[in-house]
Amino acid sequence: MPLTPLHALSLMFIYFKDKKRVDPLALTVSATFIDLEPLYYLLVGEPLDHRIWHGFALALTAYPILVTIGVYFVERLFGKKLWFAYNALRLKPKQVRYPILIVYLCSLLGGFTHVFFDMFTHKDIPYVTYPLAYGNPFYLGTASIIVEMTVIILVVYSILEWTKAK
Ligand SMILES: [Zn+2]
Repeated sequence: MPLTPLHALSLMFIYFKDKKRVDPLALTVSATFIDLEPLYYLLVGEPLDHRIWHGFALALTAYPILVTIGVYFVERLFGKKLWFAYNALRLKPKQVRYPILIVYLCSLLGGFTHVFFDMFTHKDIPYVTYPLAYGNPFYLGTASIIVEMTVIILVVYSILEWTKAK
């Protein structure tokens, strides 16, 4: 995906389907923060910007644990600020603090879908199945437009659910 925010937006509809069991903060952070990696390599001027964090080895292990720790503490320390932010964003929250297992599962989903969508649409993302193999066998070339369109449809659906949220 060329645009990082689409990763999070494409998943948001599941929050509106089940606000009690889907943590919007864990989902957003986990689907977004992986792109700190290409941002970093862009800033230091390295041509290969999707590296080890854009692979299932870390996206399904260390990454969701790190996100879970961060989100869990933010929810406990800044509960009031989150209520304010969620209301301002019209997320119509029922709660802002989620059990740690829910935070973890949402973080896992965000990390997984990020790498999953990226592996079809990015040519140079060689760590996808690392350390099993180096290189990206999933890149679809021009057919990656199908994945891009699927994500766009999910984004539009999420926005529709958002506008209907109560
Ligand atoms: Zn990415």
